[in-house]
Amino acid sequence: MKITKRIWPGVIEHYRKFLPVTEKTPIITLKEGNTPLIFSYNLSKLLGKNFEVYLKYEGLNPTCSFKDRGMTMAVSKAKEAGSLAVMCASTGNTSASAAAYAARASLDCFVLIPKGAIALGKLSQALIHNAKVLAVNGNFDDALSIVREITKKFPITLVNSLNPFRIEGQKTVAFEICDVLGDAPDFQIIPVGNAGNITASWKGYKEYKKLGIIKKLPKMLGFQAAGSAPIVKNKIIKNPQTIATAIRIGNPASWKGAVMAGDESGGLIDMVTDKEIINAYKFLASKEGVFVEPASAASVAGLIKLAKSGYFTHYTLNIKQTVRIVCILTGHGLKDPDRAIKSVKAPRVIAANTRAVLKEMGY
Ligand SMILES: *Cc1c(COP(=O)(O)O)cnc(C)c1O
Repeated sequence: MKITKRIWPGVIEHYRKFLPVTEKTPIITLKEGNTPLIFSYNLSKLLGKNFEVYLKYEGLNPTCSFKDRGMTMAVSKAKEAGSLAVMCASTGNTSASAAAYAARASLDCFVLIPKGAIALGKLSQALIHNAKVLAVNGNFDDALSIVREITKKFPITLVNSLNPFRIEGQKTVAFEICDVLGDAPDFQIIPVGNAGNITASWKGYKEYKKLGIIKKLPKMLGFQAAGSAPIVKNKIIKNPQTIATAIRIGNPASWKGAVMAGDESGGLIDMVTDKEIINAYKFLASKEGVFVEPASAASVAGLIKLAKSGYFTHYTLNIKQTVRIVCILTGHGLKDPDRAIKSVKAPRVIAANTRAVLKEMGY
């Protein structure tokens, strides 16, 4: 039966030769990756005639965020090493992903979350996959330092993006984008929290370039939330604030990686306000039909901010050159349904008759 060949095997099997796995590595997969690259009519139009803007919808991974690309690697390698448990600190999505992949690998999973600052969808995932979830009376950065200490002392594998296998798995997003576009885009825009993902995707592009699979490298544009923008402000933020909980991080583990991606590529690390994030969030859902969680909208908020500031003006001059921009949409909107409900008007209650309905419909 040839048909099985066409079934997507997950990122490790598909990109095996670019990843640190051997015949001996047990592959723990939920068929992550192969997410759609969606053309955005509205954003392309906003930028200009010679622009093409694409949305890389990472919310369509198995646990609904890009974390699955890294987790398939981290958990497979933990299993290979004979580890009995994995542990992470999480603003939500890492724990959802770790819990699912640990369940599949028959490993115990321990999760530390900042108390009260985690979206309901994510918490429900970690719990139903049977992770041991503990809420600490502190923020993400506090939780991560406890996890680092424990995983140093005990035979438990840390699966935050400090784990180099997470970065290896997550670099595959760059491979997929290049495989679809036939080369790297001119710009990649991405939300920055703990900064593992910008570090990983930059690594992916550089590897493809080195192997001659692509001809150019993208400029990397990373966006933090204004209330938690340690890299932009060049100082640790003690009490980070933003409605975009997935990037509410005051001391990113891959700080240097993010700065390097921005500098080496000729891009930048900048920030967007919560208001700009919510506007982009509602724009994506209402105009493009793409529902993401607030943190994911930081990439599109960043694109709109840069477009308004004239950042791309130089590129509109040469209209013969097509400029391709990819916004990474890191997680699904259903992760945080409370935020969606809070961002719009509640449905009106009306009488149960056709006339009343038609009147509301404006017919
Ligand atoms: C983890 C996460 C981020 C931030 O990614 P980093 O690698 O920590 O920079 C952004 N958006 C979502 C939805 C996430 O889950």
